[in-house]
Amino acid sequence: MINKLFFLLALTLVFIGCRTQRIEVYFDVPFELQDTASYNKFFDRFENHISNYTYFIDAGHGGEDRRSVGPRKLAVEADVNLSVALYLKNFLEEAGAKVYMTRTADSTVSLSERSRLANQSSADFFISIHHNAPGRANDNWTNYTSTFYHAQETDYEYEPMERDLARYIQRDLAYAMRNSGGTGSFDGTYSDYIIFPKRGFAVLRETNIPAVLVEGGFWTHHIEELRLIDTTFNKIQAWGIFRGIARYVSNSIPRIEHIKTIVTDDSTAVKFKVNDVIKIDSNSITVFVDSVKQNNFLFEPKKNELILNFNNVEINSPLIKIFLKNINNNHSFPFEETIHLLNN
Ligand SMILES: [Zn+2]
Repeated sequence: MINKLFFLLALTLVFIGCRTQRIEVYFDVPFELQDTASYNKFFDRFENHISNYTYFIDAGHGGEDRRSVGPRKLAVEADVNLSVALYLKNFLEEAGAKVYMTRTADSTVSLSERSRLANQSSADFFISIHHNAPGRANDNWTNYTSTFYHAQETDYEYEPMERDLARYIQRDLAYAMRNSGGTGSFDGTYSDYIIFPKRGFAVLRETNIPAVLVEGGFWTHHIEELRLIDTTFNKIQAWGIFRGIARYVSNSIPRIEHIKTIVTDDSTAVKFKVNDVIKIDSNSITVFVDSVKQNNFLFEPKKNELILNFNNVEINSPLIKIFLKNINNNHSFPFEETIHLLNN
């Protein structure tokens, strides 16, 4: 009799279980967010590095653009982007950093306006936050985390430091979400030319400050949609991005500045200073004059000075682009400047 009752009870539970189709969403809380001591320890270690820089966070879409809605009609991409962006803003501000945002509410901001605001802010980094959808209609199983940088290594406009930033963010975000980076690239970072050949994303192309675009996960995925509407999970995502930024900036980033132009009767020397507390990898120095790669430069490691010699009197105002990296493998902030050789 008791056995029969148990059997009926079990059968009823199975029936109810099937009827409500309860889906367990799975995520882990990063250890730094599990207790105050670990959280504080992280800030003690990284906050001085983080607050050295300013950040521009762009929550994708919003306002009139709320078209991207998940298969269960629960996740609106615009809202998920904003939720992650606001948590990221809080983490960065808690570390003492200055943060700019394109929007802090559900409002309409055009793509060109986003870049204009970012350029005007002269922040050090632009981080655009989005969530993804696959190319095929009715695909509700594709899901991964990816981070985009602008252009490709072979292009003049490619800035290797954008890929550095993308790599750090991607690694820690994907880890925090327990997602892979997809199979389209080895480390989960992608050139935006993969989506729009030779143009890339407008928001990365038109933004002059170093910029990356994060695609957190697929709102079209049948389970990921349920994770993305959970604010605890959005906070974990923001923590992943924040931790990637923290590790990236703690390895220091070289900055190049033009310090002097010395004109003599037969030649002109243009001097640049490389500012970094970390040693520069002298083999990494890449110099372009009017977009042509050069080999005629000298680097003095003790002074961290780079000297470029011009013998050609035909060149009056060359456009000089330089990048290099420190021995932590972090590339320099973009440097591209027209130097006037005769007026000095
Ligand atoms: Zn989007």
